[in-house]
Amino acid sequence: MTDYIDFLSRVKTYSFEKWTLRSSKITPYHLASWGFSCIAEDTFECTMCQQTISASHLPFQSEIEEQKTIDMDLLIKNFFGSIMAVHKEECLYNQNNYDNQIYFSLTDEFLIQNMEELYMLAYNSYESFDNMNQTEESSSDENKSDKYPCIDTSFLKIIPQQYHFLLSQDQKFVKIKSLDVRKTLAAFAWRLEEDSQSGKGTLNCDFCGRCVPLQSYATNNGRYMIITQNNEANEAFNPYEEHKYFCKWSSAQIFTAEQEESSQTNLEKEKEDSDTSKSINGWNICINYLLDQFTYQSKKKKTFEAVNEIHKMQDEIKKIQKDFKQFEQTISEKYTKIVNDCESLNIKSASTSQFKQKLQQNRQSIDDILKDLNLNSLLESNKKIKTN
Ligand SMILES: [Zn+2]
Ligand SMILES: [Zn+2]
Repeated sequence: MTDYIDFLSRVKTYSFEKWTLRSSKITPYHLASWGFSCIAEDTFECTMCQQTISASHLPFQSEIEEQKTIDMDLLIKNFFGSIMAVHKEECLYNQNNYDNQIYFSLTDEFLIQNMEELYMLAYNSYESFDNMNQTEESSSDENKSDKYPCIDTSFLKIIPQQYHFLLSQDQKFVKIKSLDVRKTLAAFAWRLEEDSQSGKGTLNCDFCGRCVPLQSYATNNGRYMIITQNNEANEAFNPYEEHKYFCKWSSAQIFTAEQEESSQTNLEKEKEDSDTSKSINGWNICINYLLDQFTYQSKKKKTFEAVNEIHKMQDEIKKIQKDFKQFEQTISEKYTKIVNDCESLNIKSASTSQFKQKLQQNRQSIDDILKDLNLNSLLESNKKIKTN
């Protein structure tokens, strides 16, 4: 990360006053990659070995157009050759020191890998600026209106409409007023800082060193209020166009959402494959990052809802199980009662038959007694007595 920070601090030295555009094929990124800072107009110094080199011999674009004989490609090739050869032998930017060489180049891979950190760094800068202003507000209201610049919304045309919601307040982009200034500025790499000299806020891009004072633009206190392109556009801040021409974050390139690639036709893919400049820019990577975040969050929300649903179902199952247990208990209690009743009934029926048997036995013994008593003779004698 230090290589990256050192690299960006070198890029920042290529200010409007000192850096003159000769050709779009030479940018501060090239020179900063090889260790050079811009110390004076067209003069560059290696931050490690202090060797200097000048680009003042290179012709301007207008001269090349006038004199058709100038071979700019050859001049650039020679310039790059001398830039690499100018380092001292022991310098870590010297290409001969392969083992120890320091080299940093702002690649797409680097931006993709670090997007979350880069975006959050820019986004959180507004939070700290808010806090800073709040403490100052207690003594004076002066900075209160300086919080956010009015945004020129013409930049929205470079982002397909279906992705505008990613920059909106609540991710439901219904009207232009719900555009979130913080999200928008952060997506275009604008970090808010307090200028140490003026005490006023400045918007900074770390990737091209552009620094604009907030007071250059119409500002508003609301986080979601903006001015559209048709209304005082010259006073509004265009987050896309304010970068320097070479900025890795904003350099013109059509939007290529990863999700859209699947819907491309083969013809379009072939056309893209043949295109050598496949490099995409920072804001594009950032929109894709926000899209991934949104997809991840909505998937997470759906998973959360599904888990909740499962928990609800589990509760219901538990309730049913409890009810069933109670039912089982009641059934078993009732069964036990019936069995007991049946048993007692059996006992009763058994004792009835015993009683019956006893009765029969008693009857028999009565009969026997009666027989022994010789009732017939008694009856006979009784008859005789009656007739007499
Ligand atoms: Zn050097
Ligand atoms: Zn920039």
